[in-house]
Amino acid sequence: MTAHNTNWDNEHFFHPWEGMETLGQNDRAYIEGGEGIYVRNDRGERLMDGPAGMWCVQVGYGREEIADAMADQARQLAYFSPFNNTSSISTRFAHEIARRAPGDLNNVFFTTGGSTAVDTAIRFVHFRNNLMGRPEKKIIISRQKAYHGSTYLAASVSGKERDRLWLDKADHLSHFLPNVNPLHRSDGQSIDAFLDEKIADLENAILTLGADKVAAFIAEPILASGGVIVPPKGYHKRCLEVCHRHDVLYISDEVVTAFGRLGHWFASEDVFGIQPDIITCAKGMTSGYVPMGAAIVSDRLIADLTGMGATFSNGYTYSGHPVSAAAGLKSMEIIERDGLLEHVQALSPLFQERLSSLQDIDIVVDTRGMGFMGCVECSADGSKDALLDQDYAIGALIDEECQKRGLLVRPLINMCVTSPPLIMSADQINQMFDILETGIKTAADRRGA
Ligand code: PMP
Repeated sequence: MTAHNTNWDNEHFFHPWEGMETLGQNDRAYIEGGEGIYVRNDRGERLMDGPAGMWCVQVGYGREEIADAMADQARQLAYFSPFNNTSSISTRFAHEIARRAPGDLNNVFFTTGGSTAVDTAIRFVHFRNNLMGRPEKKIIISRQKAYHGSTYLAASVSGKERDRLWLDKADHLSHFLPNVNPLHRSDGQSIDAFLDEKIADLENAILTLGADKVAAFIAEPILASGGVIVPPKGYHKRCLEVCHRHDVLYISDEVVTAFGRLGHWFASEDVFGIQPDIITCAKGMTSGYVPMGAAIVSDRLIADLTGMGATFSNGYTYSGHPVSAAAGLKSMEIIERDGLLEHVQALSPLFQERLSSLQDIDIVVDTRGMGFMGCVECSADGSKDALLDQDYAIGALIDEECQKRGLLVRPLINMCVTSPPLIMSADQINQMFDILETGIKTAADRRGA
């Protein structure tokens, strides 16, 4: 039941992914505050935040130091145009990011979030090919279940089927490869054979579309909101080899995986052993305290374009916003000072072990994850392919049961995702999975009833 005595949420707040049938009919609690790994709502409940907001509150809520850094920066210089000028704090943040990014990814183009980072990356790739005299080389190869954002271009390369139903996309610029989830490999197919098939999918797509038409491949190291899909070992390395063999660029969308979620600043190099041509990031970059994103471009790509007299006419009023840079720098400092990368590395085995033990529950057909990312997939009849009618509500039912017990999870149709703040302790991880286990079992009983 609602505790707040206003109905402004229903009257005025048009939420992302709002169902037109439920618009104005919701009974959501209002979140009033947050501290550490917990948020507090206006019903007087304190909830452990399993999704860290939206995969982003790396250092946890209520960090005075970040609030102070933002306030100090706002007092000193709240804003300045990034177009022909620069604020010293944003140059410092660009330097600190480039220092941690793989290889020659030294050019940090600041954006307002993940979607605009992906948009910028694609526009840059197109810009480069125009300048290099190959204006036909424009197609971006992506994958089913990928999510890259909600601007027109980023949505055009996003491959979640249900999100593609009702909106227009730039279809001539995209091509989608089949699902890379090993759960969906054919009966008897080994992981190695599945991997070979996925690599062949990419190479065949480039050959069929024509290497002269394909500009780039875009991939999340782990498909996040598609259901934490971890491709087979060696996948990214082999994809990069295929791409470079055909002069196709590799864009690694690290909006979720960068800034510690997998125990490293960037997962591309440290976890998957690749140096992409462009990395996009956002979310954990400022621990979600204020919006910001970036497309980080390699020196090599920039070098191709010098001496042509061209301008990359792309950018935002708030590119490199000083207050966001202040939050980002402070968040980075906390991650480093408190050893949060090492902390995630040390506790990932416990996190992943607790996650995979959920497989013992009847309705769970798969668990998968890495670092502080996990997903539980459920199905009423144990089928791993087609969703049944009753499967659609199971994620929301689990979330409801978990919330009753003090835990927020992120429901995604028949799946539940968890990606907590990086500060979560071993005890709290155990507590989170204890609640999730009970939540799933109770939801299964309710569904069966
Ligand atoms: N890329 C990935 C991998 C994401 O998960 C998201 C957001 N969930 C985006 C891009 C878009 O980021 P934003 O919502 O900040 O625009």
